[in-house]
Amino acid sequence: MPQRKGPPISERLKTAMAASKRIRLAVKRGEKITVNKTEKNRRQEICDKCEYRTEKEQTCKKCGQKPKTKLTLWCLDCGCWLPAKQKLATEDCAKGYWGPEKPIKEIAK
Ligand code: SF4
Repeated sequence: MPQRKGPPISERLKTAMAASKRIRLAVKRGEKITVNKTEKNRRQEICDKCEYRTEKEQTCKKCGQKPKTKLTLWCLDCGCWLPAKQKLATEDCAKGYWGPEKPIKEIAK
């Protein structure tokens, strides 16, 4: 089970800077920086089953009720904000669960 806090802010900043550099390089090379909706959804489904994913229930500010669905937010392994990471063609899962260059590992559940 991963540590529930995730990496420290300094590590998260390094990861974000590295991601930003990959995006700039992709733009410079004329490569696309986002994946299509099918791929984004595939990545999200994998993250949704992952033990490293954090989730948060949002509460309606008016009525105080919680929706049935929970929002996937952060990865406790890399510290990335998952909705953005899953959309970026330049990113992959550090655990090898998804990404263009890594074989997809099965998440045992
Ligand atoms: S990016 Fe990888 S390690 Fe992080 S939540 Fe998604 S599948 Fe799990």
